[in-house]
This record gives sequence, structure tokens and C-alpha cells, in this order.
Amino acid sequence: MSNFDVAPSSTGGIKGRLRPYVWSLRSGLRTIRFLFGRFERSCPVCGYRGRFFAYANPLALGINFDSLCPNCLSHERHRLLALCDTEQNLFTGKDILHFAPETGLTRYIEARKPRSYVTCEFGGKGADLDINIEKIDIESNRFDLIICCHILEHVNDRLAMPELYRILREGGTLVAMIPLIEGWQETFEDRSRQGTVEDRILYFNQHDHVRFFGRDFRRRLERAGFAVDEYTAVEPQVAQYGLIRGEKVFLCRKT
Ligand SMILES: [Zn+2]
Repeated sequence: MSNFDVAPSSTGGIKGRLRPYVWSLRSGLRTIRFLFGRFERSCPVCGYRGRFFAYANPLALGINFDSLCPNCLSHERHRLLALCDTEQNLFTGKDILHFAPETGLTRYIEARKPRSYVTCEFGGKGADLDINIEKIDIESNRFDLIICCHILEHVNDRLAMPELYRILREGGTLVAMIPLIEGWQETFEDRSRQGTVEDRILYFNQHDHVRFFGRDFRRRLERAGFAVDEYTAVEPQVAQYGLIRGEKVFLCRKT
């Protein structure tokens, strides 16, 4: 049995006080060798096969190993969305609006030959439009598909969801992905914990997140008028493509 299987003892003395430091340092050093990948994976976004790199956001908590495709820079969520597309043909022939477009995914979508493809970023550069998702300056019933990956945890979703519904055509789909805590019945969005960057990292896991969605995410979408379907990351695709177990693509239809 290794030291890692033994519960820390409360014995005093210098050795006892140093023990958590030694354990933490040792476990950190043992994982360094996996920074540039542990297992061979496949990327459904770009076709790369090989090791994925570890990724850590300094403005968030935690590090994901085998996360970043070194060829197209896709993360787990982008690969899950590409897999969902291979089953459901989401993009071909559609009028698409993509919020905060990611480079690898943009290339993937353009290769699927949408009828039109518009990217947008709030106040940012490198996109076609500057759009405030809480008050969208676009006519109603304009798009067949809207891609909204890891956006709704940053904004007022009660304002954003009806706006997304409004600019979709009847029969259109909102593709929504968010960090979701399935173990929580209700979303956590305590405003008194959002005051500082450190508070937001501590409670919401990233410097610019304002909530952690719980299972009621579905209900919030339904309240805005959507019929919600789910595509889930399951084995053996999780291991094969480097996905997050149980992560979901929410396919929200305007009926
Ligand atoms: Zn890739």
C-alpha cells in the first residue's frame, strides 16, 4: 500500500507538520509528466490522433489532463459538439449564429457548408458582430441554429434565453453548453458572492462566472419556450475522444 492510501495522522512534531507539504509536492511532481498527454485520443473536430495536452485557466480552479487538442486547440466540449453533429447533422445548410466562436470549431462548422455563418462577440474583436446577448439587436426569426457554448453562466440567462428564442426560426435549435452540477437541484447564483474576482473563482470557479447551474437549467430553458433534448458524453467515446464524463449538449428547439 502506498502513502496515498493512508489517512493523514494528527501526530505533532516537525515531521507531522511537513507531511501535507511533502504529499502535495510529491503528487504535483508525479503529475507533471502527464502535462503533454497520457493516452492517445482522437479529435473529431480536426481529425488529429495522438496525445492531448493538459489545460489550466489561471483565472479558474483546477487542471484538466488530456484536454487540449494540440492541433486545433479544441477542448472537451468542442469535441462533444462535433460528435453530436456527426449524429445529428447540425450545421449543413443552416443559417447559423455562433457566440464567442472558438477557432477550431469555426473551421469545423465552415467545412460543414452552412447556408450562412455569422459569429459574434460582446464588445470583443475577431467576430462578425458585437452582440449583447441580453438585448440582441437582430430581427426575430432570423437563424436556424444558434451556438452558445459556455456563455450563459456569464450573463443574465433570464434575459438571454427569451432573446435567443426570439431570433430563432420556428423549428430552429439553440445549442447550449454550460458547466452543470447535476447533483444540485437549484442553480447557485448568490449575488453577495460575486463582488470580487477571488469570490467568483471561489464560488463559481472562474473570474467572470456569475452562477453555477443546477438541474433546473432545463426548467429555465423550458420557461423561455424551448423543448429541451440532451446529447450526453458516454463511454467508449469519453475515453476515445477525451471528453468530460456526462457532459451534455442541450439541443433546445423552438417549436
Ligand atoms: Zn483537434
